[in-house]
Amino acid sequence: MTYDPNNIFAKILRGEIPCEKLYEDEHTFAFMDIMPQVEGHCLVIPKKPSTGLLDADPTLFASLFATVQKVARAAKAAMHADGVTLMQFNGTAAGQTVFHLHVHILPRKEGISLKAHSGKMEKSEIIKANAEKIRAALAA
Ligand code: 5GP
Repeated sequence: MTYDPNNIFAKILRGEIPCEKLYEDEHTFAFMDIMPQVEGHCLVIPKKPSTGLLDADPTLFASLFATVQKVARAAKAAMHADGVTLMQFNGTAAGQTVFHLHVHILPRKEGISLKAHSGKMEKSEIIKANAEKIRAALAA
């Protein structure tokens, strides 16, 4: 599969589509998922284009996972979670729906199951409120 520069995350990176941004540095960008599978579900993407992990430049993994760790720590603290699940899909058969490499960060609480993947759009006020908590934890 070739990379489509008009995929949703490429548009978010270019600022053509709004998002609840959490963090950005030279190589990575983090923002809230609009169809959260759990409270505080967020995404980390590299700025360098690739459809997924398999066609990515491996030299970006250090920066990508440094941001995943930073945001995962903040999301866990902000959501008062007990743990964090990471997910990453490659290809339609594997459940991928947006073809720009991304890592899902899912703060987990004991006894609370994940909702459906790419299921239901959350109210923007709720996503914004959770983003504010995560941004505050990132700044702490
Ligand atoms: P994938 O299925 O490719 O692993 O994950 C794509 C994720 O992007 C899904 O969890 C979905 O809810 C999320 N998503 C899809 N469209 C948008 C959008 O326009 N904005 C944001 N912030 N997230 C999106």
